[in-house]
Amino acid sequence: MTLTPVRKIVVVGGGTAGWMTASALSKTLGPACQIRLIESDEIGIIGVGEATIPHINEFNRALGIDEDTFLRATQGTFKLGIEFVNWGQTGERYIHGFGRVGQPGDALPFHHFWLRMAKLGRAGPLAAYSMNTAAPHHAKFMRAPPEMRGSPLQDLVHAFHFDASLYARFLRDYAEQRGVRRTEGKIARVSQREPDGFIDAVVMESGERIEGDFFVDCSGMRALLIEQTLHAGYEDWSHWLPCDRAIAVPCASAGELLPMTRSTAHAAGWQWRIPLQHRTGNGHVYSSGFMEADQAEAILMANLDGEPTAQPRHIRFQTGRRKKSWSHNCVSVGLASGFMEPLESTSIHLIQTAISRIINFFPQAGFDAADIAEYNLQTQVEYERIRDFLVLHYKVTRRTDSAFWDYCRTMPIPESLQRKIDLFLSNGRIYREQDELFTEMSWLQVMVGQGAMPRGYHPFADLRPEAEVAAYLGNVEQVIAKCVKAMPSQAEFIAAHCAAG
Ligand code: FAD
Repeated sequence: MTLTPVRKIVVVGGGTAGWMTASALSKTLGPACQIRLIESDEIGIIGVGEATIPHINEFNRALGIDEDTFLRATQGTFKLGIEFVNWGQTGERYIHGFGRVGQPGDALPFHHFWLRMAKLGRAGPLAAYSMNTAAPHHAKFMRAPPEMRGSPLQDLVHAFHFDASLYARFLRDYAEQRGVRRTEGKIARVSQREPDGFIDAVVMESGERIEGDFFVDCSGMRALLIEQTLHAGYEDWSHWLPCDRAIAVPCASAGELLPMTRSTAHAAGWQWRIPLQHRTGNGHVYSSGFMEADQAEAILMANLDGEPTAQPRHIRFQTGRRKKSWSHNCVSVGLASGFMEPLESTSIHLIQTAISRIINFFPQAGFDAADIAEYNLQTQVEYERIRDFLVLHYKVTRRTDSAFWDYCRTMPIPESLQRKIDLFLSNGRIYREQDELFTEMSWLQVMVGQGAMPRGYHPFADLRPEAEVAAYLGNVEQVIAKCVKAMPSQAEFIAAHCAAG
């Protein structure tokens, strides 16, 4: 029995994953395939997932989406990084900014010079040497015009915060204009053919049978096709990432419009703050093994900096990944494929890379076992590398004030992560693995930000006279400070370019 060529694609789910997939496939395939998307208004979407990382710019560009139009449609704001409060120790804060730290063009990474000067007490905080950390500190943002080539303003790297429901709506319009057919209703049953168990149709509660050659499971944590039907399996990572609950509550806007997400650690987890144009999203991610739901809710409600506009919503999740993201003629995207808590806003990015991978491995002559195995391996490696970076935040804490932080500080961690931490703690060396999402700059900012300072640094940093290195650092700091001073506030920039009506 053959399924080639793929002509009918069925996307199950109309959350961020479903509509991103339908948009990208409709743009790429044009009329070559019929695409149907099924979503249930009764079930709805998870409706959180409002902070992104810069790679989303590539997705928008590939779809030909104008940035200002997108921001207006989604009540979006700019994001230059994440501020972490109380993570290394209660009372401490640092920003993990996108973009680079220091200046390029030296044989040695900038941070070795910074480490040398920091040991001598002659360096400013690491954040003073990056546009992406200096600007959000002052609530500043701008997109540097092309004529500012060579200015450090061109170094600013941005992502977005947006309203997840509005984003799904925006992409729905995009996809429907490109021929995607939407069906509203609940899937009651999944039909598999004999003898190989490939999915041949989903059957709606209405009785309608929707047939397909290729199914994309974007049904969220239900994982209706990939798990409930094909039993692909789930690898649980909650021993490394122990948070398994979230409470979300939207609030009225308050204070300055900061171009960054804030993550404030509490006794058994952390609280997010995501500023949008029309409201601020807040939520408390916590570990049910260390805190009861009512206590977690009380902490959240006591730490809001705007009036809540809805009742708090409780969400359960299990951190981990689907053992096979692609099984038979079904590939899972989004929460159906796994979830690693929102600490570094990686889930929407994982949707995007899954879509690129589907396009790369799009079935040509049937469903090839080697293609599927490679797809699954690449997905696994990507998840594991992101996992290690997230675990780093919990492991490299000096907090001793709760059972949760004691657990995190002392827990055994993946060997791949331990190796990276050890390498940095010896002489400040950081190596980015092939295709790893997070750069050396990200690892540096989190480790230093949480107080993990290396014992040494690269010996070549000592080859230059101390005064010369001090002047070099001083110059970088001054140029950045001058640029930030000249920038508009994010609120001013949005009002001028992309304010929602
Ligand atoms: P969902 O939004 O749950 O969509 C599932 C779809 O499947 C819905 O349309 C539903 O109707 C449909 N469906 C299910 N069953 C059926 C059925 N039987 N019949 C018909 N339709 C069905 N990601 C980030 O990148 N940044 C963040 O800041 C971030 N924060 C998060 C915070 C929390 C607390 C959580 C839990 C997640 C967060 N995420 C974040 C992840 C992000 O929310 C998801 O990756 C994203 O929303 C994609 O969700 P989804 O489309 O996979 O699932």
